[in-house]
Amino acid sequence: SRQVYTFGGGVKHDDPRSRDKVITGGKGANLAEMAGIGLPVPPGFTITTEECVKYLAEGGDFSDALRADVAEALTHIEKTVGKSFGSAADPLLVSVRSGARVSMPGMMDTVLNLGLNDETVEGLSATSGDERFAWDSYRRFIQMYSDVVLGVEHHLFEEALEIAKEDNGYLNDVEMTADNWRAIVRQYKGIVESELGHAFPQDVNEQLWGAIRAVFDSWDSDRAKVYRRLNDIPGDWGTAVNVQAMVFGNMGETSATGVAFTRDPATGEKAYYGEWLVNAQGEDVVAGIRTPQYLTKAARERAGAKPLSMEEAMPAAYGELAAVFELLEKHYRDMQDIEFTVERGKLWMLQTRSGKRTAKAALKMAVDMVGEGLIDEQTAIKRVDPMALDQLLHPTLDPKAPRDLLGRGLPASPGAASGSIVLDADTAEKRAEMGEAVILVRVETSPEDIHGMHAAKGILTARGGMTSHAAVVARGMGRPCVSGASGLSIDMKTRTLRMGNRELKEGDILTLDGASGDIMAGEVPTIEPELAGDFATLMEWADKHRRMKVRTNAETPADCRMARQFGAEGIGLCRTEHMFFDANRISSVRQMILAEDEAGRRAALEKLLPEQRADFHAIFDVMAGLPVTIRLLDPPLHEFLPHGDEEFAELSEAIGIGVATLKRRADELHEFNPMLGHRGCRLGITFPEIYEMQARAIFEAACDVADASGEAPVPEVMIPLVATKRELQILKKVVDDTAAKVFAEKGRTLEYMVGTMIELPRAALMAAEIAEEAKFFSFGTNDLTQTTLGVSRDDAARFLSPYVEKGIYPRDPFVSLDIEGVGQLVTMGAERGRATRADLKLGICGEHGGDPASIAFCEKTGLDYVSASPYRVPIARLAAAQAAL
Ligand code: PEP
Ligand code: MG
Repeated sequence: SRQVYTFGGGVKHDDPRSRDKVITGGKGANLAEMAGIGLPVPPGFTITTEECVKYLAEGGDFSDALRADVAEALTHIEKTVGKSFGSAADPLLVSVRSGARVSMPGMMDTVLNLGLNDETVEGLSATSGDERFAWDSYRRFIQMYSDVVLGVEHHLFEEALEIAKEDNGYLNDVEMTADNWRAIVRQYKGIVESELGHAFPQDVNEQLWGAIRAVFDSWDSDRAKVYRRLNDIPGDWGTAVNVQAMVFGNMGETSATGVAFTRDPATGEKAYYGEWLVNAQGEDVVAGIRTPQYLTKAARERAGAKPLSMEEAMPAAYGELAAVFELLEKHYRDMQDIEFTVERGKLWMLQTRSGKRTAKAALKMAVDMVGEGLIDEQTAIKRVDPMALDQLLHPTLDPKAPRDLLGRGLPASPGAASGSIVLDADTAEKRAEMGEAVILVRVETSPEDIHGMHAAKGILTARGGMTSHAAVVARGMGRPCVSGASGLSIDMKTRTLRMGNRELKEGDILTLDGASGDIMAGEVPTIEPELAGDFATLMEWADKHRRMKVRTNAETPADCRMARQFGAEGIGLCRTEHMFFDANRISSVRQMILAEDEAGRRAALEKLLPEQRADFHAIFDVMAGLPVTIRLLDPPLHEFLPHGDEEFAELSEAIGIGVATLKRRADELHEFNPMLGHRGCRLGITFPEIYEMQARAIFEAACDVADASGEAPVPEVMIPLVATKRELQILKKVVDDTAAKVFAEKGRTLEYMVGTMIELPRAALMAAEIAEEAKFFSFGTNDLTQTTLGVSRDDAARFLSPYVEKGIYPRDPFVSLDIEGVGQLVTMGAERGRATRADLKLGICGEHGGDPASIAFCEKTGLDYVSASPYRVPIARLAAAQAAL
């Protein structure tokens, strides 16, 4: 199959590979698609991602076959535009750009004006009739090519240009004359020669292959690897290379370049949104060298800005562009992110792709587009990344709270963030690792800052527009961002920043409002998120299309209430040990643990009973008739013991046992490996009176609530860490006997279930037998992961991230289920359990119950529900719907 696909100039490929992102990358596939529907796309060609993978695997040189294909494709461009590559008379210039399956800011981006050398620059000068433009293009090319392909640091070129401008008394690049640029080109070539020891390549084919090689190599750059790790992008995709005829936005006042979104990527509003610059090349907009202007009149007026919008300054080209926007949205049925150039009044499309958007915008656009008839509900459900909902569920700044406003920038990515100021990415990462909330403040950001942006709670930049690197990356990461705060200056020597007449130092607290662009000193209080409107609509659709139920892991009435607001349909895991730590009852708990015999334990348990009953009463009240899974005590008893002399003395005082005795008892309880020690159902086996007390509390509370409200709770009593059927048999009897006693005392009965967690490999293996005793299984995938991988969940942090970096596990297996390994045990447990008991209820309550990839697996495995922490409930509802579609 082909490895080079041409586009533009009327070519038609029947081969669907030419428009397949997997083969030709996002950029290449969309260029082919746009050209195919008749949009004005400069002709070009794409080298496939497969070729990149091959090149990186084999190393060394390019094959003759590829060289021949590229030469042929170049001829296609030459014929279409009527210029020839390397010609001194009428030279073809091309751009070379990377383009992976998904857009990846970590990779080589673009080399423009490739094909210029000492001879072709004269040809460009003659054919364009603009000598200044030709030499300006040449110096841009040398600078860009030297930076991204040859690895010469770009500041060397910038400094040379600054000095030249100073010598001539210029403030601005536009004052440079043709002769000035000619002189700069001489200097730039000198810089390359002295940095590299050889001349800047004059052979245009050498230039082209150098750029192709640089694109391929950039796939394995450190920046790209970091980006892939943060975004779960596999390392074996590779990138395509796009080579395309240049069109020039810098050919005078009738030329321009810009970037645009068909809808507002921050709010989702249905209004064209973008930035443009007259007489400029693409990178001028993105790099923040000149401040871009508004695209539409409405946006300009709203911002109170003076320089004319494109709509006003170039009405004809703008009209054409607006028509293209409409066509593209209808064609792709999604919001598009577009790059365009106007060359001497003619519009050219350079790129389109589904635009990155904030969670808020994604939600609004998905719901709006269903209303517009552009997409159906199912598509809308699939459009919103469940994890992105997280951004919407968290608080925003209280509009009524006082703000100590320092200044304002562009509202580049919404959300509120407070934290201490840090001025570089490494420091941001270090401080964030120590648990500090930090705001990364930079003049502008580049892909080298990605790790710091990820670590920061918010990002502030002095330069760059709404489509600058900082803005795009922050929106993608869901970090609040204020960009282009022109009043901000940063002094890296004193590590201070200045806004107006205020000076702040690194470490001072700053608050950003990414929705308004406000920058404030100190911390500003926040308010709860809006759960109505578009959010409620999408959730309703998700609920309609999902099969699995979504429950929550919660044990306080407040958490239960919040989870219900978020749509939880029951409790999947109530960890009762959390109730034992309560300040008022911890001494009774300790008395129970330290008791020498059963009688002593029962006396202490007697005191705990009313407290536990009140706990359950409150939860049943909030959950009003929904299923509530209560897990009996799980952790080893020594976890509840006092720490330090002071606590021992206090306890001794409270329960009247000497400190020495207490310490001896504590020593006796010491375990070498508590995770595999005296915990879970083993506590119930050795001290059945503990489980008996808990069961009594559950049933008494359930009867009381049923009597009081008429709505009978459905308690599901869950036994943890079971490995054998016999364990469950013994403990189930404890629960059943207690239930029978309570029902006799209360003069009523209630429906209830006894089930077990499947969180040990043996339990999964023996699921058929265990199901004889259990009415339900809940997969405790935290422990199941720990015991299957033999990796301690409390110690894994230290070595798991290198494991993930090296691809040993694709993701942290405690966050996203190891489907390949642990998943087999879940599937086996489910199948074997159901073979014994067809109506066995199956759920998951490990952390994975809130992870979309794991939820998709649960759907496939046929579980009845997933259970997640309260804030994850909406994420789980949406992910469950996506999994079902
Ligand atoms: C589990 O092991 O997955 C579980 C839910 O229980 P815990 O996290 O309390 O051990
Ligand atoms: Mg567990």
